[in-house]
Amino acid sequence: MSNRRQLVEMDKRRVWHPYTPMEQYIAETEPLVIERAEGSRIFDVDGKAYLDANASWWVALLGHRHPRLVQVLREQSERMCHVALAGIAHEPAARLAEELCAIAPQGLEHVFFSDNGSTAVEAAIKLALQLWHNEGHGERQRFVALQGAFHGDTIGATGLGGVEVFRRPFAGVVLECAHVPVPPLEVAEQAYGRAFEAVEQLLRQDGDAIAAVVVEPLIQGAAGMRIYGVDYLKHLRALCDRYDVLLIADEVFTGYGRTGTMWACDQAGVKPDILCTAKGLSGGVLPMGATLATDRVFEAFYGAPDRAFYYGHTYCGHPLGAAVAREVLAIYRDEQIIERAAPKARRIAAAFEQLGRHPGVKSWRSLGMVGALDLAGDGGYLGKGGWRVFEEARRRGAYLRPLGDVVYVAPPLNIADADLDELLAIVDESLRAAIS
Ligand SMILES: *Cc1c(COP(=O)(O)O)cnc(C)c1O
Repeated sequence: MSNRRQLVEMDKRRVWHPYTPMEQYIAETEPLVIERAEGSRIFDVDGKAYLDANASWWVALLGHRHPRLVQVLREQSERMCHVALAGIAHEPAARLAEELCAIAPQGLEHVFFSDNGSTAVEAAIKLALQLWHNEGHGERQRFVALQGAFHGDTIGATGLGGVEVFRRPFAGVVLECAHVPVPPLEVAEQAYGRAFEAVEQLLRQDGDAIAAVVVEPLIQGAAGMRIYGVDYLKHLRALCDRYDVLLIADEVFTGYGRTGTMWACDQAGVKPDILCTAKGLSGGVLPMGATLATDRVFEAFYGAPDRAFYYGHTYCGHPLGAAVAREVLAIYRDEQIIERAAPKARRIAAAFEQLGRHPGVKSWRSLGMVGALDLAGDGGYLGKGGWRVFEEARRRGAYLRPLGDVVYVAPPLNIADADLDELLAIVDESLRAAIS
């Protein structure tokens, strides 16, 4: 029996895949069996290459196996792989924290390390709740998030989430969270104004009971690459200031240059009270998360020991991840990753503008290194249209995982121009083949 057959059999017998209806998967899916990855491509067991259109779930922003990241991982592993961070300091975590604060939006001065995006958000939720508890405002327990939000899958993060199928089974036990409408980008000004008014009214009425407003700044990734304007982000900052509510920016997807600037908040000049980062942070090499906080947040935990943040994860600030994350930042500086992505982003925007004219496409949008389109048809996250395009793209050598009826690219920021052109051509051909 071929290696591929054997692996697929074992996989279907044992592996429970994320976000996957397993009965259909076992009966119908012939999965890719990937064996190695390099730059913008992943390779299957037969040596067939696929352009990685989503940078392997939005993490491989420097491509796969950047030689400098592999080198640093090797070097760090020869000194120290892991040591607890409680009562211990070490160079990778200390220097990474320093470097993160230096590039973060102004005012973020302290770094709480964790394991991934969900835990970075989970830490932010708990920081917000405990800050109010410590300050004698334990009644501030509610959260505000955007409709369609995605902040991870731990139970706290699930409470903030607005993707209905992800949330429904847990609706009875999650945090109290109000979901406010997101102002549509190109639609009537009326709808735009209503979204501004809705959140303003909520804070005016219930501000005293609200711990924090949590947002994915400028792009809501899992919602289907929904983009909104800088005005709305500024509006939220102003409201949070007025009603003394914390603003938490979840930059797990939008950070590290995905939207064209290091942080999406930078485009709005918005300074959050807490910022969550993961994904690009460790360049797709190891899982790692970080939650950055201002002095105001940090100092709310000063004083008697029972005011401290009794929270952590075993691998907080692990040396391997921290060393790699430092090298990620060094590569951003040395290779001018963000500057050099700008012309690539323009290619993506131009290509999606063209794709938007296709009769099977309802709308398109792009920001930074993201291009997305909605297929006609209204299946939402469970829509099937995107999967037909996926199959066509797979045949043509691209891994183009959709979000239901949303087809999008979010490739490595340093994807070679030729690879990007090839990817965009495959999207075009696959769309025609799938929809005609
Ligand atoms: C992916 C994502 C998360 C969750 O990150 P994990 O590492 O998968 O736990 C949280 N927030 C946003 C905005 C994300 O895109």
